[in-house]
Amino acid sequence: MRYPHHLTKVIDVLKRLPGVGNRSAERFAFQMLNWKEEHLREMATIVQDIPSKLKHCSDCGCLIGEESCPFCDEARRETGMVCVIASPRDAFAIEETREYKGLYHVLGGLLSPLEGFGPDKLKTHRLLHRIRTLHVREVVIALDSTLEGDATALFLKRELETTGIPISRLAFGLPMGSALDYVDGGTLARALSARSRF
Ligand code: ZN
Repeated sequence: MRYPHHLTKVIDVLKRLPGVGNRSAERFAFQMLNWKEEHLREMATIVQDIPSKLKHCSDCGCLIGEESCPFCDEARRETGMVCVIASPRDAFAIEETREYKGLYHVLGGLLSPLEGFGPDKLKTHRLLHRIRTLHVREVVIALDSTLEGDATALFLKRELETTGIPISRLAFGLPMGSALDYVDGGTLARALSARSRF
């Protein structure tokens, strides 16, 4: 017996979420059948409002609500530093550390020729423009420690070389609380090469 048409549509929509397969989507859909109508409407409205209530700052690319961008607030941030990140979500993770007070610049992705994400999509001209107009003194590259992250970091380094501004990249090393013999060779090699004075 097939599911009623609209239930299949609900399942298909839920399956667009990352990590949600057929079984999970079916479970969620059947659960939602028990919701009160007002809760279903509330969910629909909240989802529908995403494009109008959540925006990307036109300067840094970070995710913001309806207010002005808190990541670009010159009164609270050190404008001499720009941290380059791949996605708006990374800014929230870095803010959690309370270690960084500078500005951000969202690339929108990492170089990945196979997925059609080439250098033209990185919008480095916008980054260069901000570096010049904000009189930035240091650029921190905070990208993943993956093939794509490494390729993007190298590309950025070459693009930014002309500015003469010091560029740093997040250190890669041992995870907190880890024992040396449990760490893989690649991580250990990177931790050794990025060792810092103690
Ligand atoms: Zn901003």
